[in-house]
Amino acid sequence: MNQRVLSERARRVIPGGVNSGQRNVPGLGDLVIAQASGARFRDRDGREYVDYHAAFGPPLLGHNDPDVSAAVAEAGRTVDLCGVGVTEDEVELAEALTELVPSVEQVLLTSTGSEATFHALRVARAATGRRLVVKFQGCYHGWHDAVSLNVISAPDRVGGKDPISAGILPEVLDATLVLPFNSADAVRQAFAEHGADIAAVIVEPVPHNVGCLLPEQEFLRTLREECTRAGSVLVFDEVITGFRHHLGGWQAISGITPDLTTLGKAIANGYPVGALGGRADLMDLFSSRPGGPAFFAGTYNGHPAVVAAALATLRKLRSEPVHEHVFRLGERIRTGLAEVFSSLGVASLVTGYGSVFVEYFMDGPARTYDDLLRNDASMFIGYRRRLLDHGIFELPLNLKRSHVSYAHTDADVDHLLEAAALAAGAQLA
Ligand code: PLP
Repeated sequence: MNQRVLSERARRVIPGGVNSGQRNVPGLGDLVIAQASGARFRDRDGREYVDYHAAFGPPLLGHNDPDVSAAVAEAGRTVDLCGVGVTEDEVELAEALTELVPSVEQVLLTSTGSEATFHALRVARAATGRRLVVKFQGCYHGWHDAVSLNVISAPDRVGGKDPISAGILPEVLDATLVLPFNSADAVRQAFAEHGADIAAVIVEPVPHNVGCLLPEQEFLRTLREECTRAGSVLVFDEVITGFRHHLGGWQAISGITPDLTTLGKAIANGYPVGALGGRADLMDLFSSRPGGPAFFAGTYNGHPAVVAAALATLRKLRSEPVHEHVFRLGERIRTGLAEVFSSLGVASLVTGYGSVFVEYFMDGPARTYDDLLRNDASMFIGYRRRLLDHGIFELPLNLKRSHVSYAHTDADVDHLLEAAALAAGAQLA
């Protein structure tokens, strides 16, 4: 059955024909994924793409990595979900995370990043007895109400409360303060006014949900200092940065240690995982410890297949030059794309970190979300739609980042740079 017919069937029984809001991409047409392997996926009509979207980030090793797939298959032969006690693999994974991530003294597994950030805020409120949460414009922390605001906001919505969903109680939005990223002054002012009522500050240390804004050290340091002074809980949401940028996350790179850390995506190379770890006195408040006041549960938490995937991913990240490879290709892409766009005379800011890259069509630099409002969205999206004609998939949605995996090669990068010249040239014509 071809792609068009399958998509029509999908739309009849699945709202919009896809299972996540961000998978319905305008202008993409029908897309039924048939097969994914390494750096590529193929659609139902046989078209193959070199994949830089990478499912929003998990497959750092590439799709269907043979070692991860073998570990999952082996777990399937050994044990499935029993819903009581713990497995040896869960212990091993928790030990590894506590060794690797500076803030993590104890850790709990969830099935998604959203659950991890939800529980981070719940336990922060349980620990402090306070009401307010601080987040930053441009950061995404999942779909739950307390953080479902001010991600990619239109210019006239920046500075106010900009919910990403209908159906959120106004009092929940009232309890979240939104500040500009990289503004140490805004943080100091918020703490001067509300410090005694702030339970938690949650931040993507690198806001990758708007491409890439690199954090200024003074900003992260100010978060740490103000939270410590006020007795608020600092949460680094490292769902994207964890393992992808460093096995210890951005906290290992920056040397700034939060109280709690959330992880997900790349830590299991595509299997559904989230993790919340941090200071033992905070983690001890969860109800996984008898008497813990902060309720914590999940039927699929620590699923053996997912834990096996995470352990296999970690083994490979530790034993092979994965970071060296993806960082080198990422740098080649950033430098190469900047040269391509400059030779065409188009204003661009190609940025990113390590394996992540994003090509904004604007003059640099970009420190805050406000700067990204200068990005030419129609060029950004039009360029990426034209890349599809060359067999390259970068998500054609404004401000979305792209990812390199261990399965990408120098030949893939050559291909991308050649296609970029043709796609950008055609878009400008
Ligand atoms: N935090 C960050 C930084 C994310 O990028 C995401 C998802 O994109 C989440 C949390 C939510 O994770 P999940 O989609 O697994 O619920």
